[in-house]
Amino acid sequence: MYLYNSATHKKEEFRTHTPGRVEMYTCGPTVYHFAHIGNLRSYIMEDVLEKFLRYEGYDVNRVMNITDVGHLASDADTGEDKMLKGAKRENKSVMDIARFYTDAFFDDCAKLNIKTPDVVQPATGLIGEFIRVVSALIDRGYAYLAGGNVYFDTSRLDRYYVFNDHDEEDLAVGVREGVEEDENKRNKNDFVLWFTKSKFEDQALKWDSPWGVGYPGWHIECSCISMKFNGEYLDLHCGGVDNAFPHHTNEIAQSEAYLGHPWCAQWFHVHHLNTNSGKMSKSKGEFLTVSLLEEKGYDPLAYRFFCLQSHYRKGLVFSWENLDNAAGAYNKLIKRIAALTRLDGAVDEEAAAQLKERFLTQVGNDLNTAQGITCLYDVLKAPVNDVTKRAVLASFDQVLSLSLLEKAAALREKEAAQAKTAGADGFTIQGGGDPEIDALVLQRAEAKKAKNFAEADRIREELKGRGIEVTDVPGGAVWKRI
Ligand code: AMP
Ligand code: ZN
Repeated sequence: MYLYNSATHKKEEFRTHTPGRVEMYTCGPTVYHFAHIGNLRSYIMEDVLEKFLRYEGYDVNRVMNITDVGHLASDADTGEDKMLKGAKRENKSVMDIARFYTDAFFDDCAKLNIKTPDVVQPATGLIGEFIRVVSALIDRGYAYLAGGNVYFDTSRLDRYYVFNDHDEEDLAVGVREGVEEDENKRNKNDFVLWFTKSKFEDQALKWDSPWGVGYPGWHIECSCISMKFNGEYLDLHCGGVDNAFPHHTNEIAQSEAYLGHPWCAQWFHVHHLNTNSGKMSKSKGEFLTVSLLEEKGYDPLAYRFFCLQSHYRKGLVFSWENLDNAAGAYNKLIKRIAALTRLDGAVDEEAAAQLKERFLTQVGNDLNTAQGITCLYDVLKAPVNDVTKRAVLASFDQVLSLSLLEKAAALREKEAAQAKTAGADGFTIQGGGDPEIDALVLQRAEAKKAKNFAEADRIREELKGRGIEVTDVPGGAVWKRI
């Protein structure tokens, strides 16, 4: 596939260090609150990327951290710890907060058909490893101790700004904005690897270390968790675009300083979901969740469909009207799939292969999920039998994960149940639960009731032509395939 690489600012052919195997890392959630649907946009697009690579035949090892310690309210190592903030807000312990919101995150992911990564590692479970890597960075001269904290020395690097062609001054603005300079830092972009001193309220969770009792900085967890579970060479690193600087920049600095060689070849950044009033943000406290969408009657998969309609490298504006449009289109699509018959022969393998080829090319062009959705409509319009259409749709859904056939089956069942009671005088139809056949059986019964026997016979013949035999029973009819 071709994928835009934020590190080189180009669309490139996707390659892996080991042929056929993808080592993939995703920055996981900070579990001090529910994930908002903006966060989940990132996880949906990363999920499609993982599934597309698997669809292409790669063996993927996907690793994700859970940030349950050390993420300060500002990315520039200032402000109070986000976990502590959540614990205070709810009058619970930090670990209770972490457990509750980690579960809530995976519940939301399940509703959105987001697969759980192969490895999920909470930061608090790997503190010994962080200490080991920080010690090595000090030994190698990449880190220094000042004022009780350990800092990474960015002046030791040839190239610190990887994701941006802007000059350093531009990027550094975010670091300085409204922030008191940390006097301990030798260079303005140096960042904390280990805290023992903070001018903010003390961390609840602390561990012993060679530099005193304290807790890790935010960035070190992703480097260490990835190096442990993905190995020394990472193929693909993902996150929301806000993670690019300083978080990913600092991850690269630490990992390459530690490893002594290039670390991750490809960087995938999902742009933000915004509302008309601006960026959706957890720390602002007011945000949209999957539960809220459900309360308002939306199927979470309609939100997934909404996300897939846009390209991941463009900002996406959320409004209820936009979601309504997506939900309408999704429901219509399901209806069309439900109307496909399951009775018309074998899969046309050649036609299916051609349709799949097109899907691979379209979606393989920088994860163009909107084109992936267009491919679904192309299948519905294709001059092939319905069995082939269903097989190809099921195949594409391995990547898009819109539960297309499951939802269509549920709709057929619902319609079949309605059809059973739809006949006047409680006329019931028993058969294979196929709404198309049920409808014909019902039409025949109504024709008979209206003494239109010619029409009733015509329908019986039509059903026979489709391999269906109808038997009248008291209060209804039974049909079966012959
Ligand atoms: P957090 O839980 O704050 O660490 O964020 C989890 C993920 O969501 C990270 O990859 C962020 O970059 C991403 N993210 C944060 N805000 C948004 C947004 N409004 N739209 C899309 N992704 C976001
Ligand atoms: Zn990370």
